[in-house]
Amino acid sequence: MLTWKEVIRFSVKGNPTPDQRVEKSESEWKALLTPEQFRISRLKGTERPHSGALCSIHEAGKYNCVCCDTPLFDSTIKFESGTGWPSFTQPIKENAIKYEKDSAFGMVRVEVMCNTCDGHLGHVFPDGPEPSGLRYCINSESMKLDKE
Ligand SMILES: [Zn+2]
Repeated sequence: MLTWKEVIRFSVKGNPTPDQRVEKSESEWKALLTPEQFRISRLKGTERPHSGALCSIHEAGKYNCVCCDTPLFDSTIKFESGTGWPSFTQPIKENAIKYEKDSAFGMVRVEVMCNTCDGHLGHVFPDGPEPSGLRYCINSESMKLDKE
């Protein structure tokens, strides 16, 4: 299980190697995504809280990257955080997610991205439920639900 210590270590010393890489130009991504998906996943945008379609959904399934379709999270690790964004306590696999220190807006936070295509997902915080203590705060627009 990943904890805040490993998250910080990945963001400082480098991320785990993904199973594969998907790389496309900006115009190729633009052609594949809706304008809102493009703004959030490729330009590091943030959707308004409580606006995302996947926020209050708790159906069984996998949450895949909207850009490259790699599974990132699943419904068993999703929880209701009350923040207005889909929240998870762990990635589906250790090497599914990439971590980077983000000093924007005068705060130091840890940005989380898809480790396969570098799509922006959201941020991870050390105030989640036990046992991992992690809260992955993810934009709905960065994911699609692959229902079981
Ligand atoms: Zn991806």
